[in-house]
Amino acid sequence: MDLLRATLTEIKAQSSRSNFDVHYAMKANVSPSVLKCIMEAGLGADCVSGGEVQAALDAGIPSSKVVFAGVGKADWEINLGLENDIFCFNVESIPELEVINELAIAKGKTAQVALRINPNVSAHTHHYITTGLNENKFGINMSELEKVTDLVLTLSNIKLIGIHFHIGSQITDMSSFQALSVRINELQELFENRNINLSVINVGGGLGINYEHPNHFPIPDFEAYFKVFREHLELRPGQTLHFELGRAVVAQCGSLISRVLYVKEGTSKKFAILDAGFTELIRPALYQAYHRIENLSSNLPDEVYDVVGPICESSDSFAKDYSMNATKRGDIIALRSAGAYGEIMASQYNLRKLPKAYTSDELK
Ligand SMILES: *Cc1c(COP(=O)(O)O)cnc(C)c1O
Repeated sequence: MDLLRATLTEIKAQSSRSNFDVHYAMKANVSPSVLKCIMEAGLGADCVSGGEVQAALDAGIPSSKVVFAGVGKADWEINLGLENDIFCFNVESIPELEVINELAIAKGKTAQVALRINPNVSAHTHHYITTGLNENKFGINMSELEKVTDLVLTLSNIKLIGIHFHIGSQITDMSSFQALSVRINELQELFENRNINLSVINVGGGLGINYEHPNHFPIPDFEAYFKVFREHLELRPGQTLHFELGRAVVAQCGSLISRVLYVKEGTSKKFAILDAGFTELIRPALYQAYHRIENLSSNLPDEVYDVVGPICESSDSFAKDYSMNATKRGDIIALRSAGAYGEIMASQYNLRKLPKAYTSDELK
């Protein structure tokens, strides 16, 4: 929690220099104490489901700071947003626009929307977590943009307030954000030529963290991140730049704590078999993600292990040929940088119990 507070302080310090508006991408972690801390820091919420919209409101985040994205919003989710007068729906297709308009008419409301545009900018990250290319399911392609804009202007209960982008996740190469900024500058002309005033430019999230060295880089380089946009994105008068950061806010603040059940000698390798598996942390199995692993119980010289879980799937492996302090049954293992996309992606596969989360504040 201390690291989370320090991270939030740094985000506020760096973003307020340019009056940037930062929202927290709820899907990274919705632990109540984490949300409370983020709400108190004054961040808005970026939601991708009705459940997240409700969780944001329940955490005390004002509806005027709630935005709602996602390619497949169900009617009840849209209605929830309308009833609570959320700030903005980030809309990803023509049929979605039409449904939001119909539902808004039925409620006598006007929905503020931003068009999520697919800028065809590569995020230079794992292909499972890149979202801004034409072949991705997300967003409206640039070739369709004029058609969509024409349509929006005919919809009675829709108010177009901005444009939205999100090119991917775990992005550490700042040139991707520079490319995004340049693309946005080009797109702004399209709207200007049609005399459409946009008040919100939303560049999404995606800032990466250092999974290799969580102890040396506990807080991402927000200064460099915001600077790219400050230097390359040309805001028009009256426009606010919105960000939706998830991983960069919470990832370094959490570890998955597990116990070694067995050390098993294979023919050519040793396996450290943990009592946690992809049911508690799915990122390695899902995206071949790396998490630093530390044996908190051992100071012995390093040995090499495949660190695996107990689930009946070969993909239930955290790391292959991994060097860590010599390990025995009962040792406590930390999988670091698990604060984002960890607990929230847990499942009960194999009828396992969902893991419990504890905060450092509770232990004080
Ligand atoms: C997932 C997501 C984010 C946050 O991504 P991070 O990589 O965690 O910063 C932001 N915006 C949208 C629309 C998302 O889907």
